Amino acid sequence: PSSSEPKAIRRLSENLINKIAAGEIIHRPASALKELLENCLDAGSTSIKVSVKDGGMKVLQIQDNGCGIRKTDLPILAERFTTSKLSTFSDLSRITTYGFRGEALASMSHVAHLTVITKTKSDACAWKASYADGILVDAKTGQKSEPRPCAGNDGTTITIEDLFYNTPTRLSALRSTSEEYSRILDVITKYAIHNPKVSFVCKKAGSPSPELSTPSSSDTATAIRLLYGHTIAKELLHFKISSKEKQRAEDAMDEDEPDDPEGWTAEAHFTNANYQAKKFIFLLFINHRLVESPRMKRSFEAAYQSILPKGSSPFMYLRYPSVTPGLPFPILTHTSQSSDRSTTLLTGGIMGENPLPKKRSRKERDVSDGE
Ligand code: ADP
Ligand code: MG
Repeated sequence: PSSSEPKAIRRLSENLINKIAAGEIIHRPASALKELLENCLDAGSTSIKVSVKDGGMKVLQIQDNGCGIRKTDLPILAERFTTSKLSTFSDLSRITTYGFRGEALASMSHVAHLTVITKTKSDACAWKASYADGILVDAKTGQKSEPRPCAGNDGTTITIEDLFYNTPTRLSALRSTSEEYSRILDVITKYAIHNPKVSFVCKKAGSPSPELSTPSSSDTATAIRLLYGHTIAKELLHFKISSKEKQRAEDAMDEDEPDDPEGWTAEAHFTNANYQAKKFIFLLFINHRLVESPRMKRSFEAAYQSILPKGSSPFMYLRYPSVTPGLPFPILTHTSQSSDRSTTLLTGGIMGENPLPKKRSRKERDVSDGE
């Protein structure tokens, strides 16, 4: 047939659809880990332990002390779109968990060997289940199976083995084991800063001592000192700003109330001019989610440019809980500068332009629609 003739349209196989979808969510060990970490936090864990072999390509294991998973839920756990976090459309507008799509574990079962051991407080023993392509299977025979009783603590341990064993293109896109491992450490470090009440431990499988370890019930400043070091910690400044509406709202209502969309609070921990590093360390959490924003990064870099020597960069951790496009965005600026650069401080907050895209106005829409 000549190339101008249309080809027949065929339905993709279920298995292929699932593999493609999995690739959109799991790009590398660190992205699998991010999903698993978020599940642990959603489960109310106060202790999260990660163990890594070969940069997470061979084994990535994460143990938590959260609420566990009910045995009766295990058969559908790794099916796509199964979740305990969302049931109705209106739930979407008041979601307080990281997850809600029910796709992460399903994805992992399509591109890796997935094993879950879990125990709820009311269970007499733990239950173990292995998954392949969304289905609970016997790990040896690969046939459909049932959860098996086993020993275990309250909480959940999830193990991912041989990531991308069946998707060679994904596998070949990965970097060295040490590079993948450092990405894993980076993700854990950032979540540990943002969740100082939770203890995080990360070690290489078989290694006696952890590479990263934080206590539970800590605070942000302590977490920054432990994870990024004293040099950063001793030059840290901190501020918190909220809109008036937000403050009034918080005074009036208890914490469970949904966030007032008109109000906001932002908090920043950032180094003063005494700290000058080669690389800009920028942690941005919006609505508790780790976000990359090159645009915000650039604007903070610009703010620092006037007080830091050329080529040096700060550390900055910013949390911005509720974000509504169009609201003003708090940005940092320096308000005091002495002649001696080493005592220059970077403090204060001013309102800047929210870097998130605004809803287009009617006028803009008209123009771009060519009317
Ligand atoms: P989502 O987080 O979007 O719901 P996931 O595929 O990540 O989807 O997880 C599916 C479900 O499995 C979750 O809704 C939750 O009920 C359960 N789950 C996953 N990980 C854990 C965990 N560490 N502790 C308790 N429950 C978990
Ligand atoms: Mg999840």
